[in-house]
Amino acid sequence: MKAMTPSLRFFLFAALALPGQDSPATRRLKQRNLELAPAIVHVAEGVYAAVGYTVSVNCMIVGETGVIIIDPGQSIAGSRRVREEFAKITNKPVSAIICTHSRADHTGGAPAFVDPDKTIPIWARANFGSEAATVQAAGIRVGVRPVNTQGFDVPPEKRLGIGIAIPPNRPPAGSGMMRDGVANLPGAAQAPEARPMPPTHQFSEERRKLEIAGVQLELVAAPGETDDQLYVWLPSQRVVFSGDNFYQSWPNTYPLRGSARRDIRMWADSVDKIVQENPLHLVGGHTKPILNDARKVLENYRDALRFVHQKTMEGAEKFLTPDELVEYVKLPPEFAQLDYLGDYYGSVAGTVREIYAQHVGWFDGDPLNLHRLPPREQSERMAALAGGAQGLLEKARTALAANDAVWAAQLAQHAMRLQPAAKEPKLLLAEALDKIAEKTFNAPSRNYTFAFAARLRREAAGERP
Ligand SMILES: [Zn+2]
Repeated sequence: MKAMTPSLRFFLFAALALPGQDSPATRRLKQRNLELAPAIVHVAEGVYAAVGYTVSVNCMIVGETGVIIIDPGQSIAGSRRVREEFAKITNKPVSAIICTHSRADHTGGAPAFVDPDKTIPIWARANFGSEAATVQAAGIRVGVRPVNTQGFDVPPEKRLGIGIAIPPNRPPAGSGMMRDGVANLPGAAQAPEARPMPPTHQFSEERRKLEIAGVQLELVAAPGETDDQLYVWLPSQRVVFSGDNFYQSWPNTYPLRGSARRDIRMWADSVDKIVQENPLHLVGGHTKPILNDARKVLENYRDALRFVHQKTMEGAEKFLTPDELVEYVKLPPEFAQLDYLGDYYGSVAGTVREIYAQHVGWFDGDPLNLHRLPPREQSERMAALAGGAQGLLEKARTALAANDAVWAAQLAQHAMRLQPAAKEPKLLLAEALDKIAEKTFNAPSRNYTFAFAARLRREAAGERP
């Protein structure tokens, strides 16, 4: 029998899991994953989008003499499957590749579309790779946290992907076009077939009109999720390929992995630029394409982003702290009910905190935060109130039994600080974090929390974290 692919195994797992035991957050993420099963979507005449084969959406425009590939995907193996599917539609050669931005989940699969003895134009903006360059200049790597938010470090039975894509595999080193992107995370093996494939054609102006294989299209600068982002506009069909400035989720205005700042007003302005094209069909960088009414969807996306920005600054003017702002800024019902504005990947709360951090900085206005006790001293005082470290653990256990998992986690964390070599506080904290994660809808937060719990268990077992 032919071995099942990882994604097929995953879909069977997702379909067979007992829904009755799941929190609403888990149920909604499982439902989303079923919508991301591998499929070739016919967007418009001669326009196809491959969803669920690689982490990103990979597209083909069929021209007179060849095809144009937009975002070749993350992994060479996944992108080969996409090429095979596209070859069932047409046997025309690949005339060009367009990269909406440089991140490895959109670019690493490029070699799958270029035969070894050939070179073809690869289009991107002139500042292609600016995100990785900024991070490198700061002297840090992408993915600086102790565990990963994409779910690579989450135990397999708890992995539910990233809300906008099926669970990604840790990408092989050197597989992206960037010098030091997500593809070069620690622990990644070198892909034997990987080869550097940088853009061959770049543009620095606002808009570049092209004719490729008889197709008229326009590449337009659109800084947002990354500074080097562009969208592809196909005027004859009113199709827009937005890159990561749109996917069916609240936009990820701040990645929990750290190290990248995203200008939220600029992002909304770039979405507005697409609205002005009056598109009918919208292919995002992840999740299924919007086949009709693209303009209305993008107007809502833009307006919701601008609303959160305006409301956060209004609250900051009233000296609300970030914690208070998260309570203060709620999406109005007309936005909150839209599934494509749900917190699958980005979150409204994270956006509020990021806006505050960008405009106000780290000081939240609370004078106590200018005079904080060091963490260990705080824990010593808490232990004194609770009857010692054992008292903290007992109260943590009681809270956990009462499903008060966040409070249980806080108490266990205090105990862990006081007994850094002991197993019990680590295991109790891990159990509390697992409970919190299972109820967490935002996929990167959920992944980070599950992965941190797994790391604590490894530490408790004396393994390398
Ligand atoms: Zn992406």
